[in-house]
Amino acid sequence: MNFEDKRKQLVESLSKRGVLNKKEVIKAMLTVPRHLFIPRDAESSAYMDTPLSIGCNQTISAPHMNAMMCEYLELKEGDKVLEIGTGSGYHAALCAELVAPKDSNDPGHVYTIERHEKLVENARVSLKETGYVDKVTVIHGDGTMGYPQEAPYDKILVTAASPKKIPPPLREQLKEGGILCIPAGSMGYSQDLYVIRRQGDHFESNKITGVRFVPLIGKYGFNP
Ligand code: SAM
Repeated sequence: MNFEDKRKQLVESLSKRGVLNKKEVIKAMLTVPRHLFIPRDAESSAYMDTPLSIGCNQTISAPHMNAMMCEYLELKEGDKVLEIGTGSGYHAALCAELVAPKDSNDPGHVYTIERHEKLVENARVSLKETGYVDKVTVIHGDGTMGYPQEAPYDKILVTAASPKKIPPPLREQLKEGGILCIPAGSMGYSQDLYVIRRQGDHFESNKITGVRFVPLIGKYGFNP
């Protein structure tokens, strides 16, 4: 089976499980080639619903987690998105597919921050190879500080586990009516996924499900 067929099979199985529902997210997952964002020797596992190692002791999340976060964020054409934890660059590419689809009249943009320089370099290469380089800006730094240069954001996603106290810069940099999707809890692989919506100075928080993410390390995260 070729990669495209395997990708279709994965998307069908996520849809059957009820993880994937929105047609735009389904289209994005069918379009972005996950196998081009992971190390060559793991290519054969690219379309299994599992996290995979990407070097620097980090992982690309399982596809069901990418799908869930994209759906909860209600990403739409024109959105300005901030992602904390670029990792492989795959999730940023999925977001770009949703906010800046081909031939869009009102393309959005994705800003994504990664603390490991090597992963920043790799992600830039993968995003260039797959044609997302103009839609995604990869920044090397501590994402717990957000990226004030481009704030406010319509949507913010954090793909590493935050302490229970959400980093204040991320709340501050969220636009009125914006959505923040973030795993938060303890560093020991036991967290909950939260979807937080900003209404004025009020943040309405919904706990979605238990999750396991690598820790968010930084000034407003955990200590290295
Ligand atoms: N979204 C990624 C993808 O599509 O491959 C997966 C992200 S991986 C589960 C979490 C990433 O967050 C790791 O690459 C890790 O280095 C990064 N990270 C942890 N703390 C960070 C911080 N303060 N700022 C930026 N990146 C951070």
